[in-house]
Amino acid sequence: MGINKVLIANRGEIAVRIIRACKELGIETVAVYSDADKNSLHVQLADDSINIGSPLPIKSYLNQEIIISAAKEKQVDAIHPGYGFLAENSDFCELCKESNINFIGPSAEAIKNMGNKIEAINSAIAAGVPVVTNTNNKSSDFNHIQATADEIGYPVLLKAASGGGGKGMKIVYNKENLQEEFTRTKREVEAVFGDGELYVEKYIKNARHVEVQILFDQYGNGIHLGERDCSIQRRHQKLLEEAPSPIISQQMREEMTQSALKLAKHVGYFSAGTVEFIVDIDTKSFYFIEMNTRIQVEHPVTEVLTGIDLIKEQILIAAGEKLTIEQKDIKFLGHAIECRINAEDPAKNFIPMPGKLENVIPPGGPGVRTDTACFTGYEVPPFYDSMIAKIITTGKDRQEAINRMYRALDEFNVEGIATTIPFHKELIRDEDFITSNYNTRWIEESFYNE
Ligand code: ADP
Ligand code: ADP
Ligand code: MG
Repeated sequence: MGINKVLIANRGEIAVRIIRACKELGIETVAVYSDADKNSLHVQLADDSINIGSPLPIKSYLNQEIIISAAKEKQVDAIHPGYGFLAENSDFCELCKESNINFIGPSAEAIKNMGNKIEAINSAIAAGVPVVTNTNNKSSDFNHIQATADEIGYPVLLKAASGGGGKGMKIVYNKENLQEEFTRTKREVEAVFGDGELYVEKYIKNARHVEVQILFDQYGNGIHLGERDCSIQRRHQKLLEEAPSPIISQQMREEMTQSALKLAKHVGYFSAGTVEFIVDIDTKSFYFIEMNTRIQVEHPVTEVLTGIDLIKEQILIAAGEKLTIEQKDIKFLGHAIECRINAEDPAKNFIPMPGKLENVIPPGGPGVRTDTACFTGYEVPPFYDSMIAKIITTGKDRQEAINRMYRALDEFNVEGIATTIPFHKELIRDEDFITSNYNTRWIEESFYNE
């Protein structure tokens, strides 16, 4: 295989996850770390490490030149970007190529095409995949957006073409507010993403988020690994994910997974990727919303259900290997759930809570996987995402996975800072969660008001 040494351009649990996959493949690893991450687990676990500067992401983990020069100094064959940071940056992917370093992910072209959500929607339409609003998406001109909004009817959702992480979205309830919201959202989006391009979509009020994991090699061979239901959200960000989706029919599952494969094929995609859909609970229809051209936070849900190591597959695909798994080989065993544990205080509107961790005891036992970079004495820095751990449980059915999750959350001991562990414990014992009777707005609109 052409990849013998990998630099991991990330931090936290995903850096640790990638190091583990590399070790199992016999690949040498190089960690990068900012001044705030000197004592991190990913630095301790990697074979080698290199400092990339001050804590602010823009100075270190997002600094393309520093990362490339670290990769050259350490003479790596490839860079794995993880998720977030540079994972969906087509310029960085291009820069790796120019520097003769293998980027473990899709082509720069695919990142660029799918990175702009308007382009992605146009590709989906061309591939025959259902989208939320089928007409006239491609324009950020106000008059055009207004005409489209009139046509589809209010409420509508204003979205940023280059949005991500649940940011850059605004629900507009009536025509009178459109101009004002358009101007404000455009300004906000320009500040966050450096690009103010907006589009409008029908706002689906009673919705679930269901996404499909795909894997394609560089020779056009592709498979799907089923779906994940990520409808437990706060501010359009996922808090808990599970598979299989408890609410879709076998027929929708087949249509959705086939749609994901069609889209990936249409754009010549390779590597791991996720095609995201919105399911309208009332009409029992599904629509493409975006594609993430990277490994996702919730990838372990699929791994524990199928037994396939998605990070290893990503590396093998980048190395030019052919997929050795066929669709018929994929079996889905039981049910899996993931809870994202954040260093946030649920009692104080989820305010981030950096600080020193004491007495960390991660959960274990049957059907429990813990992905974390935390340990006793570790200090959560204030500069980065507040997710500190993911707990993934499996069971022969959903109820067993829930029971195990409760037991695992109960075992998970973290002192010194507030975390979202108590929130998750309450959540998974809620009657509506247990019966899967909720939509993407449930946490914000009902769960807290019960
Ligand atoms: P996933 O579908 O993998 O859960 P998320 O949207 O939660 O994806 O994003 C994964 C990570 O990347 C999170 O840490 C999130 O904060 C970050 N992220 C994703 N897109 C952006 C963006 N455009 N700007 C800032 N952070 C982002
Ligand atoms: P991001 O790039 O931030 O992940 P997405 O387009 O994937 O943005 O949307 C994030 C979330 O916003 C979805 O999971 C869903 O909860 C909500 N959402 C997006 N589009 C719609 C829509 N048309 N109607 C209702 N909810 C939507
Ligand atoms: Mg998304």
